Amino acid sequence: MTSPSQATDATKQALAAAAAHLPLDDTQDFDDAARGFIAKSEQRQITATDGRVVWDLDAYAFLDGPAPDTANPSLWRQGQLLIKDGLFEVVPGIYQARGYDLSVISFIEGDIGVIVIDPLISKETAAAAFALYQQHRGERPVTGMIYTHSHIDHFGGVKGVITVDDVESGRVPVIAPEGFMDYAVSENVFVGTAMSRRAGYMYGAAVEKGQAGQIGAGLGQTTSTGEPTLIPPIVDIATTGEELTVDGVRIVFQVTPGTEAPAEMNFYFPDFRALCTAENTSHTLHNILTLRGAEVRDARAWAAYLTETIDLWGDELEVVFASHHWPTWGQERAVEFLAMQRDMYAYLHDQTLRLINQGYLGAEIAEQLEMPPALVAAWHTHGYYGSVSHNVKAIYQRYLGWYDGNPAHLWPHPPVEAAQRYVAAMGGADAAVALARQAYDEGDYRWSVEVLNHVLFADESHAAARALQADALEQLGFGAENGTWRSAFLAGATELRYGNFGTPASSAPPDLVGALTVEQVLGTIAVRIDGPRAWDEHLVLSFVVTDVGAIYIAELRNGTLNSRVAETPAAGSTTFTLTRPALIGLVTGTLDLAGAVADATVAIDGDAADLQRLVGLLAPVNPDFPIVTP
Ligand SMILES: [Zn+2]
Repeated sequence: MTSPSQATDATKQALAAAAAHLPLDDTQDFDDAARGFIAKSEQRQITATDGRVVWDLDAYAFLDGPAPDTANPSLWRQGQLLIKDGLFEVVPGIYQARGYDLSVISFIEGDIGVIVIDPLISKETAAAAFALYQQHRGERPVTGMIYTHSHIDHFGGVKGVITVDDVESGRVPVIAPEGFMDYAVSENVFVGTAMSRRAGYMYGAAVEKGQAGQIGAGLGQTTSTGEPTLIPPIVDIATTGEELTVDGVRIVFQVTPGTEAPAEMNFYFPDFRALCTAENTSHTLHNILTLRGAEVRDARAWAAYLTETIDLWGDELEVVFASHHWPTWGQERAVEFLAMQRDMYAYLHDQTLRLINQGYLGAEIAEQLEMPPALVAAWHTHGYYGSVSHNVKAIYQRYLGWYDGNPAHLWPHPPVEAAQRYVAAMGGADAAVALARQAYDEGDYRWSVEVLNHVLFADESHAAARALQADALEQLGFGAENGTWRSAFLAGATELRYGNFGTPASSAPPDLVGALTVEQVLGTIAVRIDGPRAWDEHLVLSFVVTDVGAIYIAELRNGTLNSRVAETPAAGSTTFTLTRPALIGLVTGTLDLAGAVADATVAIDGDAADLQRLVGLLAPVNPDFPIVTP
């Protein structure tokens, strides 16, 4: 027996066996992650205006020396590479601040100022990274802003670098792939509550950092906790081959929709012979389906776009950099890096489909699919963020969905009802825990957690089951090469030991909520309606949205709110004349209806109570829903 937070002998043996297969002689990444180093920041903690620390550059200083037996040596190594923070020269004229957030911010120097690529998650971390750049490269004004894609770690800190006025005055063009705004907002809106709660598991924000705790997410260490912001782009990139010159810098674009993000693009700087691959390549196997939950990505399209990238610029490029991790230099090495990343997604896709057509299920393919030796021998194709296991299941899901075709799985009991029956069949909770303990002692933690999960779903107060489940999840975490798996396992252990930690970071910053379109606002109302309570309600509301210049009619019937654009308000309906921000304010509760009517922010023709009736039918969301217990 071991006490919690120590590795068992079985875990130690598993880690030693895994270490034996690692290409430890290949230390090129350490050279690349250090190459071009200019300076570190003296200021090691980044704070919000209220003094709260939102990022600590030394939070992972414990990632020093050889891996402890509570961490997979491959993930430990990845963490050591990720904490090499500071300002780095990619090539003369291109710089990156790394280690300032989950993502990396890049600076391209133009004739007058600097173009900024992907300003991190929080305005505080972006401002600190930009200050480090200016300290060493001079007080250059920002002359361009590029968002590579629609994920918040690539735009959230924008207001730490530029202002809305910079953009509206025309001083700073903000450039993004077509569809950016729709996806930046919508990907997090409809199921944002659930995604955010699950992200707490994936990133381990509430798990203590340390040798036996959270040691990084593989893509970056963790997410910063400052203020996320958004300034909408004014230049949409819609076609591959499109070229722009910003502050004298030529940029050629390749749009890659439906890859790592629904709206994403790569781009090439011919004058620097430098390629930015957004998040389409990185020093990890990425996610086909992220553990926080999302729509499944298209591994096939992802691979095809990378082939196109090589075709477009492979002959001339000298360096490839991205918005996570460190660059790869030299034409030959850079192209081989792109090709290996491409092969990784293509192989996963094609072999999964080959095995699907032999009748194997996602869970079976995940166990048997081995990556080609050359990919195993490279570090950047290891699964620190995505994994072969969960990506294979995601590819299965993309093509075939949740049902595996076996009618025994078509209508099983849900978790609690199944758990009660399993536990009874095992001879009761105590007997089941004894079985699980035997599996634990034999190092079969996967079976141990499955049995204990049934016990907890039948009786969540069973103290021995809770304690052993926390220990078993912890051993799985210690063994994981994948940072998000480790965080998820340790998050489960943390909640079983210390209680529900809720949602450490919300997905709904004011700038994102404020960017909702009228359609999205009406959609968010529709998905919050308490269906059964609204079965017998019938309401028709018209919204004349003055700043959008459109009229929307929303009709509630059969518990569902259907809306449409119309020429005129619906006859006999209550009509609200207001702006889009006012509508958002009413829906989110930041604007009081009576006050808004009194000061003429909202004009009502009809019965104002209709809106209250609708709002009264909205159900609260639950950001604290249980995960490892029913
Ligand atoms: Zn990212």
